[in-house]
Amino acid sequence: MIYIHIPFCRRKCNYCAFNSKVGGADEKNFYVAALVDEINSRGDSSAVETIYFGGGTPTTLTINQLEKILGAVRKNFRVDARAEITIEANPGTVDENFLRGLKNLGFNRLSLGVQSFDDALLKILGRIHDSRAAIETVTRARKFFSNVSVDLMYGLPTQTLAALRRDVETLKSLDVQHVSIYGLEVEEGTKFFELAREGKLNLPAENVCADMYDFITQTLPTLGYHRYEVSNFARKNFESRHNLGYWTGKKYFGFGAGAHSFDGRLRTSNVRDVKTYIEKKFSVVEEVVTRQAAMEEFCFLGLRLVDGISARNFEKNFGASIFDVFGAVIEKNFRRGLLEVDGDKIFLTTRGMSLGNEVFADFLLPS
Ligand code: SF4
Repeated sequence: MIYIHIPFCRRKCNYCAFNSKVGGADEKNFYVAALVDEINSRGDSSAVETIYFGGGTPTTLTINQLEKILGAVRKNFRVDARAEITIEANPGTVDENFLRGLKNLGFNRLSLGVQSFDDALLKILGRIHDSRAAIETVTRARKFFSNVSVDLMYGLPTQTLAALRRDVETLKSLDVQHVSIYGLEVEEGTKFFELAREGKLNLPAENVCADMYDFITQTLPTLGYHRYEVSNFARKNFESRHNLGYWTGKKYFGFGAGAHSFDGRLRTSNVRDVKTYIEKKFSVVEEVVTRQAAMEEFCFLGLRLVDGISARNFEKNFGASIFDVFGAVIEKNFRRGLLEVDGDKIFLTTRGMSLGNEVFADFLLPS
């Protein structure tokens, strides 16, 4: 698995805490050169089944720049002929020529940051696109790609349940293969955080957010999207193979500013600052994943999946029974109706899915 981080966006959205910034043409050229250097220096001919270009907005680069990066990956790794190759894109950044160019490069999955089809909400979020551009881009993308994913957000300032219903209606008409849903989280360092502090962020009440969550998680399955992870829904066989890899503890390479890598034992993260990254200071932080941390991750990442985790696999990986290590946590959340145990499988209930973060936190043992 390979993740490539492109930190550039046309504009910084009001809620965004990702490692992204507005970049100039020169900075992008230098960044691509540094990225290619990093890939060349770390390539080890491993077999690769998924590649994911995330950001930021990777489609703020040119086709030529993306070709250079993908070329370096192909040169330094054994990319499977059936690899899933995803690129994140934003409405308003891709025309037909660009989409054709992406397809010709070998991208076969497009993940579109739509967030909403409501013009007023898009404006509040500070997105560069409006509803028309979102619909046009998704429709255009469907012509070139048979695997298109759309991100939708809920719990947005001034958003009502009726507005979310309209978003889901529009989504339905676009017939994409995959949907990711995100509840707004107001994070430090964002414009929304400042507004919230000044009491100027008009967020929906908690019970309205809960209704939105229930509505969207109950409606998507009726439209043919099965839920396979806390926030992800897909048509059959269109689950994101790349993200499934993270949740099941596969090894991965991360290239670019702030990108993380994991070799099964050691986790490294690249320097986050773009300027410093360009100056060729790639991997700076190394963290050995202890046995305890690996056991915790196995649980809280695996529990994100609707299928949950296998007690047998836990024992195979760690030589200990999951019930000996996490028995008290499992029992507590079972009693609260958040976890279910069925033979070998341990998984979140529907209620547990909505309170997932509380359950995951319980799996962090005192060190
Ligand atoms: S497009 Fe995405 S990454 Fe870029 S600023 Fe907006 S939310 Fe952040």
